[in-house]
Amino acid sequence: LLCASQDFDFFYFVQQWPGAYCHSDKKSCCYPTTGKPAADFSIHGLWPNYNDGSYPQNCDSNNPFDASKISDLISNMRKNWPSLSCPSNDGESFWSHEWEKHGTCSESVFDQHSYFETTLGLKQQANLLKALKAAGIEPDGSSYSLENIKDAIKEGSGYTPWIECNEDSSGNSQLYQVYLCLDKSGSNLIECPIFPKGKRCGSEIEFPNF
Ligand code: 5GP
Ligand code: 5GP
Ligand code: 5GP
Repeated sequence: LLCASQDFDFFYFVQQWPGAYCHSDKKSCCYPTTGKPAADFSIHGLWPNYNDGSYPQNCDSNNPFDASKISDLISNMRKNWPSLSCPSNDGESFWSHEWEKHGTCSESVFDQHSYFETTLGLKQQANLLKALKAAGIEPDGSSYSLENIKDAIKEGSGYTPWIECNEDSSGNSQLYQVYLCLDKSGSNLIECPIFPKGKRCGSEIEFPNF
């Protein structure tokens, strides 16, 4: 039986800038139990999506997150997919949430191990911080043009990103999340068929330090 909810069109691969998660107007952050993460982008998730902007979620309650299936990936996960939510934690509840909400909707292409392994590989491939630094864009608390940020990521990764901003405690728009897209077979980055809906960033945005 073909499950309609598995029949998605592409994935969003979403990374977060920890400095913007932590210096936000909304919430505080807590460093992982294993210590402060590196000053680098980290993974938020790999999300199946439809071309009309909607998305499936929580597709298979019979396939709960099981850390023992990814034991060989845990040290890589701690480095590249840390959770900054409070209270301070080791990331497993974040990974579990991402697998159960989004990952279970990609069972036509991924099992738990390949879902996490593929996502970790995408982070290495995209290397956002390197792409930005190559264009002189550094997490130094100063502001950069949204266009220059997008161009730098396009130059480095090959694909046009969508940038999501949030606000720091003074209300300045800042670089929070970067969206790239992956084809539905889970193999290749592609140009996004549609960008997520959301607030505009403003033409100049802050790149906060972490
Ligand atoms: P927010 O409301 O903070 O933008 O998003 C809350 C959660 O909804 C995200 O963490 C993600 O799980 C899901 N979500 C938001 N926008 C999208 C989207 O465009 N596509 C998918 N697949 N999930 C989304
Ligand atoms: P979403 O549903 O938006 O994909 O995932 C967000 C959920 O993961 C929220 O419940 C949030 O509290 C939790 N979470 C845990 N750690 C993090 C983190 O480092 N960043 C984000 N964005 N969400 C986190
Ligand atoms: P344009 O299509 O001219 O590049 O942008 C149209 C509008 O979308 C502009 O207001 C611009 O600020 C906004 N925009 C363009 N790219 C992004 C992006 O990556 N993220 C966000 N949040 N807004 C964007």
